[in-house]
Amino acid sequence: MSKKQFKSESKRLLDLMIGAIYTHREIFLRELISNASDAIDKLAYISLTDPNVGLSRDDFEISITIDGENRTLTVSDNGVGMTETELEQNLGVIAKSGSLAFKQKLGDDKGDTDVIGQFGVGFYSAFMVASKVRVVSRAYGSDTAFAWESTGSDGYTIEPTTRDTVGSDVILTIKPDTDDEDYDEWLDEYTITSLIKKYSDYIRHPIVMDVTKSRKIEGEDGKSTWEDYTERETVNSRVPLWQRPKSEVTDEAAAAFFMERWHGTDEPAAVISVDAEGTVTYRAMLFVPSRAPYDYYTREYEPGLTLYASGVMIMERCAELLPEHFRFVRGVVDSPDFTLNISREVLQHDRQLRAIRSNLERRVRSELAKLLEQKRETYEGFWREFGLQIKYGLLSNYGENREQLQDLLLFWSSKAQKLVTLSEYADAMLSDQQFIYYACGTSLAQLESLPQTELVRERGYDILLLTDEIDDFAMQALEKFGEKTLKSVRADDLGLQSDDEKHAVEESEKSHAALLDFVKESLGERVAAVKLSPNLKGSASALGAQGYVTLEMERYFTLARTAGAAETPPKAERVLELNADHTAFRALESAFGTDKPRAKLLAETLCALAELAAGVGVSDVKSLTEAVWQLTVNN
Ligand code: ADP
Repeated sequence: MSKKQFKSESKRLLDLMIGAIYTHREIFLRELISNASDAIDKLAYISLTDPNVGLSRDDFEISITIDGENRTLTVSDNGVGMTETELEQNLGVIAKSGSLAFKQKLGDDKGDTDVIGQFGVGFYSAFMVASKVRVVSRAYGSDTAFAWESTGSDGYTIEPTTRDTVGSDVILTIKPDTDDEDYDEWLDEYTITSLIKKYSDYIRHPIVMDVTKSRKIEGEDGKSTWEDYTERETVNSRVPLWQRPKSEVTDEAAAAFFMERWHGTDEPAAVISVDAEGTVTYRAMLFVPSRAPYDYYTREYEPGLTLYASGVMIMERCAELLPEHFRFVRGVVDSPDFTLNISREVLQHDRQLRAIRSNLERRVRSELAKLLEQKRETYEGFWREFGLQIKYGLLSNYGENREQLQDLLLFWSSKAQKLVTLSEYADAMLSDQQFIYYACGTSLAQLESLPQTELVRERGYDILLLTDEIDDFAMQALEKFGEKTLKSVRADDLGLQSDDEKHAVEESEKSHAALLDFVKESLGERVAAVKLSPNLKGSASALGAQGYVTLEMERYFTLARTAGAAETPPKAERVLELNADHTAFRALESAFGTDKPRAKLLAETLCALAELAAGVGVSDVKSLTEAVWQLTVNN
């Protein structure tokens, strides 16, 4: 019989599995049990309409067998089974849901074994602990059975065999122990029962196993001895976690459930249990992940909670149960008030659903606020992953959520060099400070040396530094925090000057009108205007914008523009701001009087430096190079 080869991705995955790091290995059992449970679900579903199945609800089970002598661990089910073609298609290639995401990830993370834990890698995970895997399966409706067998990445065989009943046996031959690797534990009854309890406790079908027990035997002579015997037992408790009293659900069990169900590698940042009665009766168990799934900020990510009606799943991802800004929340909602065959359309307008949604929104919000207050480090971790999502929330529906979300926001404080909330910023404001200052840009390093921050810094005021593309929009949507107005350091009027000072600037601008016109003319289309700025201290020049579109918005529009789109993204009207107190300005001024070509070179240099500091890139590199050479050579 000839060996068939795995498709190349499958082969890579198998190699990864074989070399998997220790901590991931134990998930293999939950993957096999989950497959068995799915197979039973499928046959149970068929049996609802097809009397030939001949099994009733109570007959379905998953059975686990340990054979220490032959070093095998077997997971059997009386589910739907697989035909020869299905064995070939399902186990010969990676093409299935969970594995597909894994495969995509594999594309960009070559050789990173850490990705294993992030996905339901399914069946292949068996190779983390087994040197050989044999699957004997008989499909529903078929008289013959087939055996699929493989020892790893060198290929697999499929041959006919026999099996008395419909279903599958996945038989793992456990690897031999080595000097530094312990594989025997996968043949240990206690380890296996613990794993079932840890990962698969809530599986609805019974997971049965021969469990060793001891009993006392009273001898004739009055002495008693102990004797081992085995008893077939259901190891899992079969009650969904969210249906149990909160006090009975340990943090560890909740975390394990989350990680198993949503393929997380990390414990959730928060678990929220809800047991509601009133307008609508329901139970919910929600999770705030501590890490964003790799596809979170893409269109591939599917938000939503799993909706159950009295324990029967009716919708896998019901996005209507949560507002958009909390779309990272995972979890389940179970209510006896929904009918089993409710359609998505009806559900969207359902009053009960809306009641649940607003309830859950409040719960998630207060839980996040609690996390921020009590577990700052965890919250900051959460913020790094999902802060952008919350900021998007400020923008949606014309800022209608801003009051609800403002206390959840964190910003990098230039003064404290750490993340702060708006209220922490407000509390630390100096007595003469009127505004909450912020600066948006491409990186913290760029913002720390942004010319426009100089005056604010000189006054000793803190500045919130923001580096996400949407920040400028988000801050404009937020507008205020309590009584305090938010102010971008790029604003013309930073609110730091007296009327007299403002007047002086206007006068100075008037007296330098000819020079400013000359600079504008020298730069042509590069800038829309040239003016003097009172906000600069150490820097000679800065780049700003006039009109509605800021430089940051321009950056956002340019990045967000869909490839090939016809319309050009909106552009900021750039303004070159000059510092009249700077030596460079005086040099410009004197060249303007005596040496116009030199004044033009200085103007070009000042503009290029302003562009660099603004993080927008020099728009005319050639002129800059030319100017620098001319200026250095002529000096
Ligand atoms: P996934 O479970 O993500 O689809 P797997 O690699 O675990 O990926 O399994 C691939 C496919 O093989 C499953 O989708 C299912 O169709 C089939 N399969 C696996 N185990 C069983 C089983 N015990 N009984 C029937 N079909 C199975």
